[in-house]
Amino acid sequence: MNIACLDLEGVLIPEIWVNFAAKTGIEKLRLTTRDIPDYNELMTLRLGILKEHNLGLKDIQEVISTLDPMPGAAEFLDWLRERAQVLILSDTFYEFAMPLMKKLGYPALWCHKLSVDDLGMVRDYHIRIADPKKKAVQALHNLNFKVVATGDSYNDTSMLAEAEHGILFCPPQNVIDEFPQFPVAKNYEELKTEFLKALAAS
Ligand SMILES: [Mg+2]
Repeated sequence: MNIACLDLEGVLIPEIWVNFAAKTGIEKLRLTTRDIPDYNELMTLRLGILKEHNLGLKDIQEVISTLDPMPGAAEFLDWLRERAQVLILSDTFYEFAMPLMKKLGYPALWCHKLSVDDLGMVRDYHIRIADPKKKAVQALHNLNFKVVATGDSYNDTSMLAEAEHGILFCPPQNVIDEFPQFPVAKNYEELKTEFLKALAAS
């Protein structure tokens, strides 16, 4: 049996923070790890901005619930679930992703979590484990599963390398240039073709 491991943001849903920034008009929330490479520093800044704007988890989830999966994402996921067990491996937080998971039929999602105080304000974040995507694939290998993985960015490349087959989906050009060993799919039809090839070869 094959397991398909999918990244979430950039593969099935748009980037949550970027779109949250657009919906709320809070420009500083557009900053990503490209601007602030230290993830702890970036998350501390983001949580500070949420507090400054008095945005509690409920407000944040309401904004996120107005976002939609990428066009064709739900159909692609249904197609894939007929052919492999699907696990979504993401560096987002459950509390942010759940409003969007509803629109994807609640697939299995392994990601990080937030802590929220009695007033509903986000106080802290908890990373499950370092390099969680790669470690998830290693754990599946220990259970004798074969893995086909897809993702769009740097934080997916160790997962793609660990899997039997790694596929890049709509990656930025610098990721394509740095990781020429992975096939690239530019839309869901191409991704289906790559999955069919990988599943047939496993
Ligand atoms: Mg991504």
